[in-house]
Amino acid sequence: MRKLKLLLINPVSQFRKGFLRSDITRYPPLAYGIVSALTPDNWDVELIDENYEDFEYQEADLVGLTGYTSSIYRAYQIAAIYKEKNIPVVIGGIHASMMPNEACNYADSVVVGEAESCWKDVISDFENSSMKKFYYGERLSLDNIPPIDYSIFNPNYMVSSTITTRGCPFDCEFCTVTAFNGNKYRMRPVGNVLDEIEKMPQDKFFFVDDNIIGYSRASKEHAAKVFQGIIDRGIKKYWWSQASLNFANEPELLKLAYDSGCRLIFIGVEAETVEGLDSTNKKLNAKIGTDKYNEAFNRIRHAGISVLGSFIFGLDSDGLQDIRNRARYIKSANVDCYQMGILTPMPGTKTFFRLEKEGRIKKNNYPEDWQYYSVEDITFEPAKIGADELMSEMRDVWYDLFSRKSITRKFLGTLRATKDVEASTWALATNMSYRNMAMDVFGEEKFDIESLIGPYKNMLGGDKK
Ligand code: SF4
Repeated sequence: MRKLKLLLINPVSQFRKGFLRSDITRYPPLAYGIVSALTPDNWDVELIDENYEDFEYQEADLVGLTGYTSSIYRAYQIAAIYKEKNIPVVIGGIHASMMPNEACNYADSVVVGEAESCWKDVISDFENSSMKKFYYGERLSLDNIPPIDYSIFNPNYMVSSTITTRGCPFDCEFCTVTAFNGNKYRMRPVGNVLDEIEKMPQDKFFFVDDNIIGYSRASKEHAAKVFQGIIDRGIKKYWWSQASLNFANEPELLKLAYDSGCRLIFIGVEAETVEGLDSTNKKLNAKIGTDKYNEAFNRIRHAGISVLGSFIFGLDSDGLQDIRNRARYIKSANVDCYQMGILTPMPGTKTFFRLEKEGRIKKNNYPEDWQYYSVEDITFEPAKIGADELMSEMRDVWYDLFSRKSITRKFLGTLRATKDVEASTWALATNMSYRNMAMDVFGEEKFDIESLIGPYKNMLGGDKK
């Protein structure tokens, strides 16, 4: 009997490619590996991944799409091609879950929430010609994440990915995590994670967790078990992830993280002032105290792990001087690389609902305007300065902090602080990638990261492992 064909398509915005333009900073879209693993054996599953190939029409029995807000317009364009040919389309993921009524205009079915609990219903309803408009995924225990099917991913990915936890109790104003994954921090069985790390062909990977160490003693113990397991199994791979700043207060965990291959950690710093943190409801950092940031960054760096600090510009508390001060702070702070994004009201967040209520969202010709929701463009009316003024200031900030001089200075600082070549090159590559993202906005010179990083690594002795 002929197998049915599920065609998964990973859409990439044609407007802003952001982090997806470099092999160093893109990683396999895990959701498709999970959906593929959940699909029964009477189906063939194939992935067209626009990270590596432009979409070209292919026959299928069923099409599955997901997308971030900035790539959802592209997803809808592709969905329209299949809808016209009467091939059923299912859309899921963060954007569709936050805007299900919009997404169902472009798809036969919308998966709202996490897919693990309801994908089997999507498939059996398709087989019985009784697909529903909406499927609602429950937030199950993470034992239900199946072993991710890595076979569908393009072999050219340099950095692989996996996940150990979901959820966050904090609900910061701008963030989608709590709305999508819930306020309960759920942890995946350690053995499942380790099996996956062993299985992935790449020697570098990204734990896509929003905070790999979590918010409790139990969550830190879970992280410690994952790190210790990597060491015990003799896995020689490098990894990076995201964590809260209080990682700096966990010296034993930092050591385990380093020994298990961690070389870069993304920290959501957001702002260096109390007013800035208040306007984002970032309680966790406020509790640590902005005056303690630098010391905390250094504790992480001295463990051999470089710090990627993420900062938001265009907060409601930001006047021109605040923006200049934030840029100055980042330049001198003990962060090795930096994301300097513009506040973006992602659908489903409190920021979105608040700005919408205040009539301040300006990029609202949906779905086309979702393309601007990539943190490189201004989508709303800032509180204290004009949108044009903010953009012109951002241009200056990006040019200054992503200049060759600034990036090189940071790189040398990272080498001194971490004494680790891999940590330093990852931080360098990250700064180059963020520079390229910023330059995308102005259509100007970009770094050829792969060719620039290669000589650095050779010059500095290459890999340690
Ligand atoms: S920004 Fe971090 S701490 Fe805040 S809600 Fe999102 S994941 Fe949680």
